[in-house]
Amino acid sequence: MSGSLRFACTGCGKCCTGHHVPLTLDETRRWAAAGGQVIVLIEAFVTDGPGMPVEQREHVLRRSHAVRCGGGEARVSVTFAAFNPGRCRYLSEGDLCTIYESRPLVCRIYPVEINPHIPLRPQNKDCPPEAWQQGPELIHGALPVDRALLALVEASRQADREDIAAKVAVCECLGMTTSALKGNGFTAWLPEMKAFAAALEQVPDLAGASWALHVEQPELMSELQVLGLETTAQAPAYYAFIGF
Ligand code: SF4
Ligand code: SF4
Repeated sequence: MSGSLRFACTGCGKCCTGHHVPLTLDETRRWAAAGGQVIVLIEAFVTDGPGMPVEQREHVLRRSHAVRCGGGEARVSVTFAAFNPGRCRYLSEGDLCTIYESRPLVCRIYPVEINPHIPLRPQNKDCPPEAWQQGPELIHGALPVDRALLALVEASRQADREDIAAKVAVCECLGMTTSALKGNGFTAWLPEMKAFAAALEQVPDLAGASWALHVEQPELMSELQVLGLETTAQAPAYYAFIGF
């Protein structure tokens, strides 16, 4: 339970190191245009079936898109994120953001959670203990106290909903059509940025491609195949499967 939390950023820069930063479609275009690498993370579920967290039904449905999968249908959620395996390319040696005024929405929102079903827990964040012992009240109950911050959270959720069809179209256009099952893992792709940027600039129509689900447990694979869904457990050549 989030309860009431105080917070003041100490400027330690830890949240800008080793974190892939989710981007809206427009932010992704800007990141790519500036020469940054983007990582694509994909997870899928079946409506009211495998992979769908029942308690998050409305939230996950809104930020996902229906795709053909074998003889059935899955819904995919796609995250385009700034690929930051180490320090963010915009973090200065003095740990300052060099694009502070135009930094991505998620950077403005951190450490607040965007998913309304995930409570804010300081122990899950990179911020040092002292950050939580000072500053104004950040959260009361489950909501940010600051109206501007609340508006940013809503803007991020809205972008998730509005961007999903275009993100799926870009994935289909570039052959990124294998997903993991939500809760079981996700697939991670590092697209060739020239082709990716071109697809972002002129988002193609949805191709209606057939998707596959990467699952490695035989029981789960059988459960999905009974629903007519296409599965694969082959060692991936073009993506990484990050299992939970
Ligand atoms: S864009 Fe700025 S705030 Fe966001 S991760 Fe990079 S350095 Fe940090
Ligand atoms: S990890 Fe927390 S305290 Fe450190 S810079 Fe990021 S938001 Fe601020």
